[in-house]
Amino acid sequence: MPTLWLDEIGADDLERVGGKAASLGELTGAGLPVPSAFVVTADTYRSFIEATEIDEELFETVDIDSDDSQALAEAAERAQELILETDTPPSVREDLLAAYDEMGDEDVAVRSSATAEDLPDASFAGQQETYLNVSRADLLQRVKECWASLFTQRAIYYRNENGFAHDAVDIAVVVQQMVDAEKSGVMFTSHPSTGGPTAILEAAWGLGEAVVSGAVSPDNYVVDRETGTIEEVTVADKKVMCVRGEDGETIERAVPEDKRDERVLSDEEIHRLIEVGERVEDHYDTPQDVEWAIYEDEVYLLQSRPITTIDESGESADATADAESQPDGADSGVADGGSMQSQSEPVRISGIGSAPGRVTGVVRIVDKLDNLDKVEDGDIIVAEMTTPDMVPAMKRANGIVTDEGGMTSHAAIVSRELGVPAVVGAEDATEKLRDGETVTLDGERGTVEKGAEVPETTEEETADPVEQHSPVKPMTGTEVKVNVSIPEAAERAAATGADGVGLLRTEHMILSTDKTPSRYVEDHGERAYIDEIVDGVRSVAEAFYPRPVRVRTLDAPSDEFRQLEGGEDEPSEHNPMLGYRGIRRSLDRPGEFKLELRAFERLYDLGYDNVELMLPLVTDAEDILRAKALMQEVGIDPEKRDWGVMVETPASALSIEEICEAGVDFVSFGTNDLTQYTLAVDRNNGNVADRFDELHPAVLELMSQVIGTCREHDVSTSICGQAASKPQMVNFLVDEGVTSISPNIDAVRDVQHEVKRVEQRLLLESIR
Ligand code: PEP
Ligand code: MG
Repeated sequence: MPTLWLDEIGADDLERVGGKAASLGELTGAGLPVPSAFVVTADTYRSFIEATEIDEELFETVDIDSDDSQALAEAAERAQELILETDTPPSVREDLLAAYDEMGDEDVAVRSSATAEDLPDASFAGQQETYLNVSRADLLQRVKECWASLFTQRAIYYRNENGFAHDAVDIAVVVQQMVDAEKSGVMFTSHPSTGGPTAILEAAWGLGEAVVSGAVSPDNYVVDRETGTIEEVTVADKKVMCVRGEDGETIERAVPEDKRDERVLSDEEIHRLIEVGERVEDHYDTPQDVEWAIYEDEVYLLQSRPITTIDESGESADATADAESQPDGADSGVADGGSMQSQSEPVRISGIGSAPGRVTGVVRIVDKLDNLDKVEDGDIIVAEMTTPDMVPAMKRANGIVTDEGGMTSHAAIVSRELGVPAVVGAEDATEKLRDGETVTLDGERGTVEKGAEVPETTEEETADPVEQHSPVKPMTGTEVKVNVSIPEAAERAAATGADGVGLLRTEHMILSTDKTPSRYVEDHGERAYIDEIVDGVRSVAEAFYPRPVRVRTLDAPSDEFRQLEGGEDEPSEHNPMLGYRGIRRSLDRPGEFKLELRAFERLYDLGYDNVELMLPLVTDAEDILRAKALMQEVGIDPEKRDWGVMVETPASALSIEEICEAGVDFVSFGTNDLTQYTLAVDRNNGNVADRFDELHPAVLELMSQVIGTCREHDVSTSICGQAASKPQMVNFLVDEGVTSISPNIDAVRDVQHEVKRVEQRLLLESIR
């Protein structure tokens, strides 16, 4: 049979109907309120490609090197064309239409349900299609489009990258009654970290997509299931909602003013949802993560999965998070949980603790030109300064120590993102430490001691501090994103549960080629240069999809370019920080800049509509208008794409009115530079480091003015400088009404808690 009804399907039918449909069938069988549906089985897809004899050509077409963007684009186009332009056999057509009529001639939702069991469902499912509001006339075409969605560029690339055979993945399609939800959300039937009888619900207006994709901060309700008490109600400021568009697409709408801060669920609805949740939990005999909707006062169950984050030891993740948060500064990240038995000698070297953790290892002094192969797993790299070509060795290392650099240096940024403890700015580490000796490094306190330590830590205590044990992050109205500088950190950054990437620095991708952009283009051609950027950004955009990723165009000072092949052609500048960098360089070299912009165009074509474009170091609106014209020249429509600028010069802060009028969607404070230029304190100069103060009233005054003006112009505001990880800055900005905060990877959890604390204080103040 090409189609099966949900009540004919159980959990054992995974192979035939895919994960999504199997679970809906199971719930229907248990008498739970699932909207009715039939499934076009995976066999139907398979027999379609075999009976029409397109299978061989299809799999040959996608057998390509997916790093070759041109080949990938052509393969995806041809494969989809093959499916979409081949007629469905008449018997299949009749069966589908008969099933549709039986469901009651109403518009339906058509969703794909992929069947490769070992594929990581969340990420893979994101590559599949969902069509809402599908009429009888469009049904067959939509089903074929679901089939063809197995062959988008992203899906082909993903399977190639992860070693899944194209012909081992089949696809089923669920055709389901539309639930035009008035409200929807998710529910954890038990506490997601302790497994205790505490249910947690998130709810927003409209269709569930807004909650699931993270586009909106939903209301949050905590219920003690034993007593039935609603213990906590957090009403979010819900700016957007998803609704059905006229053409069947899900579209985002502004929430009507009076509903933005209105509570979504009544007590009675909460109790009805909990009752349904308990039935699902009883059915599976394990706590569930449930997607639900309410339509015409009926509760519907859209999906249910087991909660996989429950800590079997019974320790609460929240309690762990609280114990871990640093009272004196999220800046310093999360403390190493284990108690240590010290056998090491008194401090020998001290610097800036720039990536948290305490580790022991053997010193490897690495000279910039030295062969990095001598760094083995577990060693401690000691260098004057790190460079992008050291990243593979940094990944192997247990710790990193540098003579030079501050909290925003390459070594500090990369080590934090890799989760490798580091001490930077230790001045004479390369002289004082000897190659081969064993030392213990404390990336929190910024010290290196001679000798080894025997940690008494358990595996659990030494777990990566950025890993989120609970999928329920503190619900905040202000978004908390994360900064990423090296694509290698993408997965780790995405696992923090951040609301997106607030700053993706592209310079590391380009500097790691070891050639200046112009030399790279000379040697390998424009296409290869564009591909280099596309590949770097793509891995981050993929890991976060559909959460937004703010990608910054090139911003490296000329002294960093001068160290690369081709660097002799770069200007030699007396003060590179005030020189040829950021948008200034880009506007002076429109040819090179347009290649970067073409990389954005390419990413949009690949389907990464979550990529946003950000311009660094602008002085005024004129810089922006000139860059905007170049964007248009390469075919980027500034009206259609989200783009914005960094505010990191006092001039840009003082020109904010004109900058808003230039059409930007957002601005983001680069406080490393804004502080440097406002206070005239070189951010890399240890002699004046004690004067470098992002919380200086002059810096805060500029930021306050910018936020005020942006709010009037409906331009969103953010911070992505190092100070985003400082609690005092978080306090100040949330108070001022900033839209998002983007800290370092190791500070995300603490910042989420800090933001929530401030928001709750503000709420309390407003009602007292
Ligand atoms: C900043 O200046 O704060 C910033 C985030 O940019 P960068 O550190 O890359 O100059
Ligand atoms: Mg900057």
